[in-house]
Amino acid sequence: MSSTPRPVGVLGGTFDPIHYGHLRPALEVLELLALAEVRFVPCRIPAHRETPSVTAEQRLELVRLATAGQPGFVADDRELRRPGPSYMVDTLSSLRQELGDGAPLCLIVGGDAFRELHTWRRWQELTDLAHLVVMQRPGASPALPPALEAFVAPRVAREAAALLQQPAGLVRFQAITQLAISATQIRQLLARGQSVRYLLPEAVLAHIHDRALYRPSVAPPVATS
Ligand code: ATP
Repeated sequence: MSSTPRPVGVLGGTFDPIHYGHLRPALEVLELLALAEVRFVPCRIPAHRETPSVTAEQRLELVRLATAGQPGFVADDRELRRPGPSYMVDTLSSLRQELGDGAPLCLIVGGDAFRELHTWRRWQELTDLAHLVVMQRPGASPALPPALEAFVAPRVAREAAALLQQPAGLVRFQAITQLAISATQIRQLLARGQSVRYLLPEAVLAHIHDRALYRPSVAPPVATS
């Protein structure tokens, strides 16, 4: 007798750089939803923001360092192998091809990214390919843009177990420990030469320093005459 495989989670992002605000909630989702794994998928070219200052390969390397040693965490380079802007609908399609039609797939997004979902390319197809897991702080349920609200309402899964019963199509609001850390804040601190210790894993920090990533901008030499 064959049983339904455990769901695979996908957390896409720029990861510029990856930090504990990504890692801790992802670990909670892995455990709470009994996922087989969480794939961290750094984008090659972000579709919704300006091009990062460090290369996609460097951001992927930071993701590799951050996820190494945590069972169930996987760094996935598929968006770097695809030309052009990175669209989640293409990423889910390629994963769906690998996993087959019956395996549950969960697209994991933060509450902020979720509120913008209706601006993503072919966003209404995302739930044909995967469930949607929205990571939000306990008790939070801010009003959604009307188009998104109408789309989501009939798909909400009140029980986590429902995600195991079908391969895609449900939306699960999952309470997690929200850490008020952003990559923007980390880049700003590094640009000012300030410490980012305890905001991201030590291995990521060491690599950022070794490779001189996100360095403070060098002041122009003072003219002497
Ligand atoms: P930036 O500050 O550069 O916009 P970011 O820190 O928000 O970056 P992203 O790579 O854009 O990081 O985020 C990837 C995914 O992780 C998105 O779904 C986002 O909503 C989610 N996420 C980012 N930071 C947090 C956080 N502190 N808590 C929960 N989810 C988060």
